[in-house]
Amino acid sequence: MPVITVERKILEKNDQLATQNRQLFAEKHITVFNLLSSPGSGKTTLLEKLLPMLAESRCGVVEGDLQTDRDAQRIAALNVPVVQIVTNGGCHLDAGLVRDALTNLDLDTIRLLFIENVGNLVCPAGYDLGEQKKIVIISTTEGDDKPLKYTTMFRAARVCIINKMDLLPWTDFNIETVKRNALQINPDLQFFTVSAKTGTGMQELSAWFKSQLYK
Ligand code: MG
Ligand code: ZN
Repeated sequence: MPVITVERKILEKNDQLATQNRQLFAEKHITVFNLLSSPGSGKTTLLEKLLPMLAESRCGVVEGDLQTDRDAQRIAALNVPVVQIVTNGGCHLDAGLVRDALTNLDLDTIRLLFIENVGNLVCPAGYDLGEQKKIVIISTTEGDDKPLKYTTMFRAARVCIINKMDLLPWTDFNIETVKRNALQINPDLQFFTVSAKTGTGMQELSAWFKSQLYK
């Protein structure tokens, strides 16, 4: 099937660019996380709460969005360096888009870079951006069977953040079920349970991010 060939070539090209990004990040001693989730899980709100807690870690943010720069404006309001990639409907970021975005950031002043991917649990899993770790975010208003439906994403992620813990009492979401389902796909997955809104679990999460910095 020609379609499969084209897709493989695109991914090969992406992997080459991702390797270049990774080399650049290593040279500059920047720790990079690729944040992935479905729309509405609270990625940007999580960043809004985390960034002030990580102020000494000198953060930067690359925002991916389908159409707007609304998320980047929220980050810029915190005086954190941010670049917006508008994909014009494209459903994932790729390594080339990230490379181009990096020219707008002063990499010598950044130690921790967050890339907020387009809200989508499917194809972003296949695109290496050069990050150290992919982090998947799921919220308690989603189904706790998501790891079983989006296996590629949960296999690719190293960390799973369960957000909106404040809403847990009003949902059928079961923490033990989602963890069991996710561990079945990826036995090494590490979990954090947080509420970006109330601050629950955010100290532990920010401490973990600090532990990931280059010494
Ligand atoms: Mg967002
Ligand atoms: Zn896509």
